[in-house]
Amino acid sequence: MKEIILIKNGELALKGLNRSTFEDILIKNIRRRLKPLGEFEYRKEQSTVTVVPLSDGVDMDEVSDRVGRVFGIACYSRALQTEKNMEAILENAPIYLAEQLKNAKTFKVEGKRSDKKFPLTSPELSAQVGGAILEKFPHLKVDVKNPEVLVTVEIREKFAFIRGNQTKGAGGMPSGTAGRATILISGGIDSPVAAYMMAKRGLSLTAVHFASPPYTSPQSEMKVHDLLRQVSKYSGNITLFTVGFTEIQEQIRDNCPEDIFTLVMRRFMMRIAEKIAEREDCKALITGESLGQVASQTLLALSCTDAAVSMPVFRPLIGMDKDEIIKISRKIDTFDISIEPYEDCCTVFTPKHPKTKPQLSVLLAAEEALDADALIERAIENTKLTNICF
Ligand code: ATP
Ligand code: MG
Repeated sequence: MKEIILIKNGELALKGLNRSTFEDILIKNIRRRLKPLGEFEYRKEQSTVTVVPLSDGVDMDEVSDRVGRVFGIACYSRALQTEKNMEAILENAPIYLAEQLKNAKTFKVEGKRSDKKFPLTSPELSAQVGGAILEKFPHLKVDVKNPEVLVTVEIREKFAFIRGNQTKGAGGMPSGTAGRATILISGGIDSPVAAYMMAKRGLSLTAVHFASPPYTSPQSEMKVHDLLRQVSKYSGNITLFTVGFTEIQEQIRDNCPEDIFTLVMRRFMMRIAEKIAEREDCKALITGESLGQVASQTLLALSCTDAAVSMPVFRPLIGMDKDEIIKISRKIDTFDISIEPYEDCCTVFTPKHPKTKPQLSVLLAAEEALDADALIERAIENTKLTNICF
């Protein structure tokens, strides 16, 4: 007798011929996430993946927590694997599900058998298990339409599985099934949420962060590591490129009109990120911009930023309000890290009156004063690489 995890795929069911490849990637992702916790066996049946611990003393709370963050899973549940006889099932079902049952008012049992040789029919199985539960928890009522706890007893080839309510999974598509993209990550609230949202659609992530020491501190770089570590619980490992941005920012300050500082800087960020993205086989850039949130995120400002690169730029937060973004950042546990008070290079040399309706021609003319190619090349040479693993 041992506890296992039953996992139901998400949108995978829709993918026709690709389904099997998607499932294999999903299992690979789960396997990688659970590896530090012990040895496991993975069984694939229809649209269910069964994860069976092989080592003793596996921390199933941690297993369940990790599975809950893997994209491509619609729902999952912990289940008890018992011997395939009624004595074991009737004895264990009320004990295993005691926690859920004692706090509920109604329940229902659903018996299922994939082994048609089992001596009881599914309705007989449901009735007997229901009886055993009522005996131990007489306060419960059966509700077949809308039970608080749905008890499922499944008779499979070798074992019986007993489970209660399922838990909602992280949804989305398995990481890596949509290719790879580069997230421009600051220490703010928005960009980690943007990273999470695009990873949810199946993208693997490479990250680029711009640091301007001594204007920005080592702590602000550590903060970005902490944020990405949190995101990596969902996305899988992330390679982070920390780009030295001081020279570029000083050059912009010394040579460009103040009201367009931020936009010229944003365009440099995009160009550098695109170069790194190309090298890392990424096919898109991701930012945490949201329409109208600040001067550099008006429609005209964003089109000037886009004009700096030819890769697609994904902005998953573009239509979201700040409170909606904060809600997600709390859910993925990045909010408390994001609000730590370390400065970002974006807040160095910020203009008092930034242009909200910039013209690309004006930006291009201002950039003439800078040796952009050489600056970009030097910045890329001055890059640190960190592997962020969960
Ligand atoms: P965030 O909360 O993500 O910092 P923000 O609302 O503060 O976003 P900006 O500071 O204008 O907005 O930055 C817009 C986007 O530019 C960020 O979401 C991020 O994708 C990118 N970005 C900003 N600063 C940096 C940085 N230091 N390194 C890498 N990318 C950055
Ligand atoms: Mg910011």
